[in-house]
Amino acid sequence: MYKGLIDRYREYLPVTDKTPVISIHEGNTPLIRAPRLAAWISPKIDLYLKYEGLNPTGSFKDRGMCMAISKAMEEGVKTVMCASTGNTSASAAAYSARAGLECHVLIPGGKIALGKLAQALVHGAKVLAVEGNFDEALKLVRDITSRYPIALVNSLNPYRIQGQKTASFEIIDDLGNSPDFHALPVGNAGNITAYWMGFKEYHKKGKCSALPKMLGFQAAGSAPIVEGHPVKHPETIATAIRIGNPASWQSALAARDESGGIIDKVTDEQILEAYRMVTRLEGVFAEPASVAPIAGLKLLGESGYFTKPSVVTVTLTGHGLKDPQTAVNQSSAQPKVVSANIESVLQALNMQ
Ligand SMILES: *Cc1c(COP(=O)(O)O)cnc(C)c1O
Repeated sequence: MYKGLIDRYREYLPVTDKTPVISIHEGNTPLIRAPRLAAWISPKIDLYLKYEGLNPTGSFKDRGMCMAISKAMEEGVKTVMCASTGNTSASAAAYSARAGLECHVLIPGGKIALGKLAQALVHGAKVLAVEGNFDEALKLVRDITSRYPIALVNSLNPYRIQGQKTASFEIIDDLGNSPDFHALPVGNAGNITAYWMGFKEYHKKGKCSALPKMLGFQAAGSAPIVEGHPVKHPETIATAIRIGNPASWQSALAARDESGGIIDKVTDEQILEAYRMVTRLEGVFAEPASVAPIAGLKLLGESGYFTKPSVVTVTLTGHGLKDPQTAVNQSSAQPKVVSANIESVLQALNMQ
């Protein structure tokens, strides 16, 4: 029986027999071939979606959180704390509930998707909405956790990155080799750091013959790494990557440069187009931040970036149901009301 990623990849993770493993069977997510979406992007690519929305709380954050919470338990901490654009708080709340820990969450006021807020609340976290943005919330959490015996479970926590790197292992285990390119959204830049670490570790172990080029995408209104300076007032519909001063900035640059990849930006309009294409062409539902790399790949495809047949993998970081408001806003029509008889239904479907 699958028992979670710490069990599966124990030899690659900083755990011992004394680590109390807190798992909700995260990881082991499907790598879904996406031929219709690939054709929309470029005739050169064979595209696979790493559907991280199928983790227990609906995002890749569970990979890091199972490690961070297990280590917090090992260290005897009673309370954890994070700043969050939403998914970190959902995950921290769920894993804390399972471990019997207190969880404190700071969210940027009014800027988190409804599903994520619901999750933090149902799992019993203490949720505070800060009158400020993510970067300000994270600064507060860093201050408080440095002064009190509270574990910080943002991706500054090195165990988060360790857990998240296992997604690279799964991709290579599934493909039998590394992809030529790996694309993902970049917010606080922990995940691009983790993937690159994972790909390099597996390569060193001889599990793949080469390394992928890393393709990171930020939202145009919150693209500090692309612009080369922090963004004071980050804005984007993709709230999970609405971050103006990424904590893992330097390691994101290292992932880009060591792999020979790129970090670029996409507009909200391009993100929404990608959102429609993924859902309509493949039947896979991911939240807006998750499809930023799809929008980015489309731009690369149009510019002739892919010159030879290439295997491309993309992390779809979070489930589309996290953000029902964007989903409904993006649907052109509300359900039409019809009478409960066959004539009305057929007429409304233009079948009469
Ligand atoms: C956290 C998150 C991101 C950004 O990941 P970073 O590690 O902060 O770069 C992207 N998409 C979703 C859905 C997320 O929850």
